Amino acid sequence: MITTNYNEGTIKLKSNDYYFLPEYRSSKYTKKINGPYGNQELDINLIRKDFPILQKRVNGKPLVWLDNSATTQKPNCVIKAIDNYYSEYNSNIHRGAHTLAKIATEAYEGAREKIRSFINADSCEEIIFVRGTTEAINLVAETFGDDKIQKEDEIIISVMEHHSNIVPWQKLAQKKGAIIKVVPIDDCGEIIMEEYAKLLTSRTKIVAITHLSNVLGTINPIKKMIEMAHHIDVPVLIDGAQSIPHIGVNVKELDADFFVFSGHKIYAPTGIGVLYGKKAILEEMTPWQRGGGMIKDVNFETTTYNDLPYKFEAGTGNIADAIGLGEAIAYINNIGIERVQLHEKKLTSYAMDQLSQIPSIRLIGTSSNKSSVLSYILEGVTPEDVAKFLNNDGIAVRAGHHCAQPVLKRYGLNSAVRASIGIYNTIEEINALVGSTLKIARY
Ligand SMILES: *Cc1c(COP(=O)(O)O)cnc(C)c1O
Repeated sequence: MITTNYNEGTIKLKSNDYYFLPEYRSSKYTKKINGPYGNQELDINLIRKDFPILQKRVNGKPLVWLDNSATTQKPNCVIKAIDNYYSEYNSNIHRGAHTLAKIATEAYEGAREKIRSFINADSCEEIIFVRGTTEAINLVAETFGDDKIQKEDEIIISVMEHHSNIVPWQKLAQKKGAIIKVVPIDDCGEIIMEEYAKLLTSRTKIVAITHLSNVLGTINPIKKMIEMAHHIDVPVLIDGAQSIPHIGVNVKELDADFFVFSGHKIYAPTGIGVLYGKKAILEEMTPWQRGGGMIKDVNFETTTYNDLPYKFEAGTGNIADAIGLGEAIAYINNIGIERVQLHEKKLTSYAMDQLSQIPSIRLIGTSSNKSSVLSYILEGVTPEDVAKFLNNDGIAVRAGHHCAQPVLKRYGLNSAVRASIGIYNTIEEINALVGSTLKIARY
């Protein structure tokens, strides 16, 4: 036995478990096979056993959960961590002198450290707990944005943004008389980089862009985009709501100024998310909400604000769900995000290939650099009818605008069907999706 110190703490491994794949973390979730990705592959059936909801039947059929872009299911370890907090050590944090306060504080701060390590931030001061992606973007727009953006300044977003990365900027632009500039995409759903380059000017004050599109599945070249913005000293916010569960994120290597995501899209609870910001930037920013926890010293004339990250965490936070998020990240770490990525990429290409053989289908988002999201429409059938039909077969997909109306309009649509893949999905489930879609397709 050897003992190795990973993000999630000290775990004991048998040395031969991971010996031939040193870049991967050891995992009970692998099986030895002679597959295209070497001699270890994820054992999805073992992973599925960790998610109690996946044993459910819907309309008499086994549940096929393909609505992962909207929210993911939770593994037992996350559910238990929340239960354990409430049944064993529920307490407010940071301000109690008693035992439970100490345990709760350690668990909450432990979760912050797991997140820091997962995205490779320099320090826990850069990890701020918020409600989710939406709240994080509002926070940045209303503090950093409000300070830096003046009349006629420009804010760059892309046509494929989620409403959460459009509306807060729009509100700010209206308030300040600033201008929103939108980077266009090509037909397969990729950012047109020449157009992006043209939009970056001395008037640009911030770029806010999604890492992975929740409609197209496109993985944007954000490292390059950040580099180009930094070349003229423009800060960049990355909406990582979709990338965080699917691809490894390294904020330092990306050099992102802000990176935001929601817990519930990475197998953690709702109501908890993360704002990462570079320390130097966060230090300069004024607090957003004010109240308890974010202060150092208060009298009726003045208030001295607390240090990072607490300056941005006014009031009692979502302690239980922050701990749940830490647990979800430990869970993914134990499997290895690299393996998750390979599995999902493989399923995505398989699904794209199978779906594309349906004659009356139109696939939306056909970039070769995409993952986990499959949007489509069928000629002569409304997306809502497709989703209802699939639901009768136990398959959960989404139909609608997916909180990203502008990108659907780019394709002349108001609505589309979206199937989205997570770690526990299988080839058999993709076959079920394709088979069911085929049944309702008109030729
Ligand atoms: C889901 C999502 C959001 C919003 O996340 P919330 O958890 O609802 O705040 C923002 N951007 C993208 C790309 C998303 O997929």
